[in-house]
Amino acid sequence: KQVLLEVNNLKKYFEVKKGFFGGNIKHVKAVDDVSFKIYKGETLGLVGESGCGKSTTGRTLIRLYEPTDGEIKYDGKDIAEMSQKELMPYRKKIQMIFQDPYASLNTRMTVGDIIGEAIDIHNIATGKERLKIIHDLLERVGLSPGHAVRYPHEFSGGQRQRIGIARALAVDPEFIICDEPISALDVSIQAQVVNMLSDLQKELGLTYLFIAHDLSMVRHISDRVGVMYLGKLVEIGTSDDVYDNPKHPYTQALLSAIPVPDPDVIKETNRIVLEGDVPSPMNPPSGCRFRTRCQYAMEKCAEIEPKMIKVGEGHYAACHLLG
Ligand code: SF4
Ligand code: MG
Repeated sequence: KQVLLEVNNLKKYFEVKKGFFGGNIKHVKAVDDVSFKIYKGETLGLVGESGCGKSTTGRTLIRLYEPTDGEIKYDGKDIAEMSQKELMPYRKKIQMIFQDPYASLNTRMTVGDIIGEAIDIHNIATGKERLKIIHDLLERVGLSPGHAVRYPHEFSGGQRQRIGIARALAVDPEFIICDEPISALDVSIQAQVVNMLSDLQKELGLTYLFIAHDLSMVRHISDRVGVMYLGKLVEIGTSDDVYDNPKHPYTQALLSAIPVPDPDVIKETNRIVLEGDVPSPMNPPSGCRFRTRCQYAMEKCAEIEPKMIKVGEGHYAACHLLG
């Protein structure tokens, strides 16, 4: 397996001013020392509750947010340190699909111009060739060439997401960061978009980071899954290992809350209810960040931050119970 992206000790802190006059500056530790790899041609799912840092991780990987610290190695080169000019080729290789396709599309441009803009920025084609690429892309995502002259508001949510995907594909990318691409869509449309993304991956040899909070959909599309909690990666492994044999208490709780097709088959006692709210990322708990909600928390958990421990082939989790 060839590593396409290697993230080492990535941090993204946001500065927040508390209070108006002379208020002290605080940091929201949105992503706090996260490391993982993504292999060529695979889909890595990234899951966790809202505010866990999964979207921030995705955005920092393509420098939509400047990383506070850490390495982002793409094909062996650290793009965290690159100048905007040096980044240009990577802005073509790495594309992003957003949660709200409507907000990410310029509503005053036609669909053809939206896709064409990406083609123009990277000098990919002009004239007839450019138009042919636009028409081919629309067909590839299940729309038609005639849609090129229409505006985003004339489309449904699912169709707009298809336009967003066509725009991302316009520059012939290698790697696509999908930031909750189906969360805003009707359930009936979600599977269609996920299946289309899977088909495109096979046809075009794409690599995906698939960010989502819907755990059942993530399993369907991902080869491996990472679980985040309060800015930390707490578990990572193949989808089968993480879903069938979760090792971290947080992963276990998240998975126990997934509704199963026949609710009669799970006993009520299997469901782990997480008490309390997610603590503030401005002032996270010492030691293990999950300890304020963990049913197994021990004294050690407040004092020492658990490190990632190997629990199986390619399967890692960060919890003192495991070491
Ligand atoms: Fe729970 Fe402690 Fe493990 Fe954290 S390290 S998940 S608090 S048992
Ligand atoms: Mg998000």
